[in-house]
Amino acid sequence: LSDVPPSHPRYASLLTREKLVEGVERGITGLNGLIAQGRGEALDYLLGEVTTPPAEEAERAAAALLLLAERPVLSVNGNAAALVPREMVDLARKIGAPLEVNIFYRTEERVRRIADHLRSFGAEEVFGETPDASVPGLDHARGKASRGGIFDADVVFVPLEDGDRCEALVRMGKRVVTVDLNPLSRTARTSTVTIVDNVVRALPNLISLVGEMGGQREAELREIVASYDNRAVLRRSVEAMVSHLSRQFSTFEE
Ligand code: ATP
Ligand code: MG
Repeated sequence: LSDVPPSHPRYASLLTREKLVEGVERGITGLNGLIAQGRGEALDYLLGEVTTPPAEEAERAAAALLLLAERPVLSVNGNAAALVPREMVDLARKIGAPLEVNIFYRTEERVRRIADHLRSFGAEEVFGETPDASVPGLDHARGKASRGGIFDADVVFVPLEDGDRCEALVRMGKRVVTVDLNPLSRTARTSTVTIVDNVVRALPNLISLVGEMGGQREAELREIVASYDNRAVLRRSVEAMVSHLSRQFSTFEE
């Protein structure tokens, strides 16, 4: 990708930045996406840039929900398209779900580019270019959705979704799975399952969990969902940040 050596201590983070910059250059990612990523990075730093036990528990519940869903849909915005396009397409195939391009600052050109980008990774069904429905409670541009896609879904996977739109989907009666490094955001607090993890780690984890759990009996999957407590998991994510920070500080003091 560039001249950053893999031995650089911030290699993973620098690589992620480059993918987003490339996304902007290709007209896939909006400039605001760069700011969102910056906020995410700061929070990831507080987590220690690892998948914590509560994040893993959320990922397991998310995998169960996606496997149980009758009409799951995976929503893709400009950041997800730049960071994890192959993984989104792979997850969609594994659970038999369509993808839908769903961006906050909508331009038809950017929607088309993201859809083409996903198709270049083998995506079969991509909604979003010709929305024919709207999510109640959102203004016209923000609420655009597709029948057969997000509009009719029972479970929506919306990594990095805005709080308002997440709330509107929940109000429609959908179960919403999100990935958000901010455990205090409205998105995090509103979703059915909030994965407090970097999307670049969460997606590979979800893909392997879906593979692993695909053979499990439906009753077992239902039990995972029923015993899942998103609020408790968010609290443990906050605690993971606090204890990581205080451990880090102790090592400076030594
Ligand atoms: P809300 O509207 O839900 O309260 P917000 O306004 O705080 O959220 P935005 O700036 O709209 O947040 O969106 C960015 C969100 O996405 C942030 O919460 C940020 O932590 C999260 N985020 C950004 N990049 C990543 C990433 N790579 N992985 C996971 N989460 C990320
Ligand atoms: Mg927001």
